[in-house]
Amino acid sequence: MMKAMILTEYNRPLHAVQMAIPEPGEDEVLVRVKACGLCQTDLKIIRGEIPAPIINLPHLSGHEVAGEVVAVGTRVSGVKVGDIGLVYIYVSCHCCEYCLTGRQNICANVRRIGFELPGGFAEYLRIPAASLCKFKKGFAFQQMAILSDAVATAYHAIMSLARVSAGQDVMIVGAGGLGLHGIQIAKLCGARVIVVDKEPAALDLAKEMGADVLLDQRLNIPQEVNRLTNGYGVDAVLEFVGRNESLSWSLPSLKRGGTLVLVGYAPQQRFPLDTMAMHYNEWHVIGSRYCHKHELIQVIRLVEEGKIKPCVSKTFPFDDINEALAVLQNGKALGRIVLTY
Ligand SMILES: [Zn+2]
Ligand SMILES: [Zn+2]
Repeated sequence: MMKAMILTEYNRPLHAVQMAIPEPGEDEVLVRVKACGLCQTDLKIIRGEIPAPIINLPHLSGHEVAGEVVAVGTRVSGVKVGDIGLVYIYVSCHCCEYCLTGRQNICANVRRIGFELPGGFAEYLRIPAASLCKFKKGFAFQQMAILSDAVATAYHAIMSLARVSAGQDVMIVGAGGLGLHGIQIAKLCGARVIVVDKEPAALDLAKEMGADVLLDQRLNIPQEVNRLTNGYGVDAVLEFVGRNESLSWSLPSLKRGGTLVLVGYAPQQRFPLDTMAMHYNEWHVIGSRYCHKHELIQVIRLVEEGKIKPCVSKTFPFDDINEALAVLQNGKALGRIVLTY
């Protein structure tokens, strides 16, 4: 048997239960969970903001998982007992037009670990063998776990969608779990990085991660950006907040032809576009969803090479998951919170 922490009722603490350890199918592996990161999306699930058919109660969440393989299915090759790795969250169909054209992150039939499929708030997790992205031994599970969402999601947005390049000005909105890694990735691309947040402590950490310019979001941001860029604006905005309050100043901070990538989102929120400004400025606004598997593998390499530093602010033992979720909810944590098992 294994311990699992499940959601049985919305807006209530998770509930400890004993469940049978899953048996891996012929193309699957069984992972002993060693660490699992917590994400704002976990809070959305608990609050009932991601309803059925995606989330059905009782629900087993947890999608930022690192662990060790303890059993493999009969048809599995390339993964063996004792391998360590992290879990690529999206299980795609391999058959739809999106999968066939290399866009598994928007697969029409996607199922996700910790959403439609059971997640890592349990001692063991059964996954398709192809979902395991291995990393070298010697790296801490609690650091590596957050790569599968907090780091790789920022990487996809910056590398594949904003296509940030050397000499550009990039604005990162929100120095939280994703933004702090976004700063490091944009710096790796050779950009000047402007970070906007309302928390002084978050801006201090942004500086540590390599941010060039820090702005308090209560300032007149488009005016500040104008001053910093000789009146042009930034080449790209990475919106890790995605609420009307920040979009109202982040979009007008773009230079003509610039790109705003929306990574953060708020369920049920709509943002009105100034269509004339969109027309005159040829602004690009792109939604960004998770990452491709090859991007996650690139992120693992960059961390192994010391070029990206996973930013974990706090760890909690798995048993204290409700306490950890409360800290995340209160916005008291800088960087990612990770459970250790
Ligand atoms: Zn997440
Ligand atoms: Zn598909």
